[in-house]
Amino acid sequence: MSILESYLEGMWRTGAGEGAAVADAVTGEIVTRVSSEELDLAAAVTYARRTGLAALGELTFQQRAAALKAAALALQERKQELYDLSARAGATRSDAAVDVDGGIGTVLVYSSLARKGLPDHTLIVEDDPIPLGRGGTFAGRHVLTTPRGISVQINAFNFPVWGMLEKLAPALLAGLPTIVKPATPTAYIAAHAVHIIADVLPPGAIQLVAGRVPGLFDLLGGQDHIGFTGSAATAAQLRSDPAITRRSARFNAEADSLNCSVLGPDAVPGEPEFELFADALVTEMTVKAGQKCTAIRRAFVPVNLIDDVAAAIEARLSQVLVGAPGVDGVTMGALVGLAQREDVRAAVARLSGAASIVFGDPRKVEVAGADAERGAFLSPLLLRADDVDRPEPHEVEAFGPVSTLLPYRCSTELIDLIARGEGSLTGSVVSYDHDFVRRIVLGAAAHHGRILVLDRDSAAESTGHGTPMPQLVHGGPGRAGGGEEEGGLRAVHAHLRRTALQGGPATLDTILSKE
Ligand code: NAP
Repeated sequence: MSILESYLEGMWRTGAGEGAAVADAVTGEIVTRVSSEELDLAAAVTYARRTGLAALGELTFQQRAAALKAAALALQERKQELYDLSARAGATRSDAAVDVDGGIGTVLVYSSLARKGLPDHTLIVEDDPIPLGRGGTFAGRHVLTTPRGISVQINAFNFPVWGMLEKLAPALLAGLPTIVKPATPTAYIAAHAVHIIADVLPPGAIQLVAGRVPGLFDLLGGQDHIGFTGSAATAAQLRSDPAITRRSARFNAEADSLNCSVLGPDAVPGEPEFELFADALVTEMTVKAGQKCTAIRRAFVPVNLIDDVAAAIEARLSQVLVGAPGVDGVTMGALVGLAQREDVRAAVARLSGAASIVFGDPRKVEVAGADAERGAFLSPLLLRADDVDRPEPHEVEAFGPVSTLLPYRCSTELIDLIARGEGSLTGSVVSYDHDFVRRIVLGAAAHHGRILVLDRDSAAESTGHGTPMPQLVHGGPGRAGGGEEEGGLRAVHAHLRRTALQGGPATLDTILSKE
């Protein structure tokens, strides 16, 4: 099996050596091998700084928005190829749509926001002159300009397309060329997406390294932006690199997260919110086989409702058909690989010290259209932790189809329990009692990047617990990485450099005008 090519300095290049084998999540066959050995990463950085920065620097925000849109349309035309590859990583057609269509949609939203909200210029003037003297001859203004740097993105395996595009869009709009380092298990999907868009984008705007990136951070400094998505452990390691601690490269981390969903005390069986909660929990457990950073890991329910909720979730999970993507009736695919399945089993074993398994067996699952052992299949697993003071449910992320039910007795206790996740990407409150919702949302906001309120009135249009929206902030405090990605034009601003200018108002006007 040949080595997956990297796209560097405008050409597809092959790393040396054996490479790391990447297996098909469903059949276990080797799909590709990944190696960056002997690839010249220093030359790639120089190419980005020279060619990419210059090409993007010639374009205004409006022109960059048009380039992004063209890339999205190119992907749209060939998205079936990406679905087919995603199936090899265990993704069903609807899982692949979350990644592929989600990524394309994100780029289109950014393009549209930029067209409507950014000037036909290469800089953004944030404010009118702020008088700094009594005579009106001296004032200040803030300007956002493109750094003399690059954007390096390091992505998790679970969203090879969306994860890349949601970082590429704001960086490109800001005028920064990007070097993508996809996660090894799904690098072949990200690389294929780059194949599709590379020629549509300005030269040097995108490069991709498949494999490790030794020495890359040594080349980065204060003008560069590093966007990381992955585990908290890797985030902690990268964050301590001198590129960040000494040279102040910008570092945005999206890490793992013990996201919660809360069922309100009013949402008893028979109320629409009870059904909405149960549906959402099962969706979050099964979409992408639960390999979503935003999936619900902790499901808080009133103590008097926990038996009813457990029964409702069990009934739904018993309808889930695990199997090969594309096989008739399959509703949940495989994990990305056997190593990931072992990680999830180990996490479930830790959780089991504090929780009982209500549904599923971590060692056994009926599988349609594939071999349960050769493919990375796992049953959905619902756990229940009646002792909410045990640390495991609040600390252990099983990055698969796994959620834990936890009872609460009152809203004060609930807010404390939510906080024990130590910072999450997203949370949701499912209730039609507005006082309860208000108490919980305001009590939990500081621990969350995004909170969804779900009830009978908004359900039909709701985008759901687990779906980050490009218009809204994605990221979370504390354990979730402390970053903010997306968020509409906020994300573009985060890639630009803000400078306060002082001088005479007319002089400042001249500096900031287009001509
Ligand atoms: P991971 O093991 O931390 O890897 C993430 C990325 O970091 C991969 O591209 C990996 O490359 C790379 N990496 C690892 N060590 C590195 C180093 N020393 N220098 C440079 N790059 C390095 O995470 P994962 O297993 O891919 O993803 C699962 C985790 O990501 C879960 O915990 C999940 O919660 C989290 N996640 C968070 C979000 C979010 O938006 N917050 C989204 C998705 C996933 P290799 O693959 O080549 O090792």
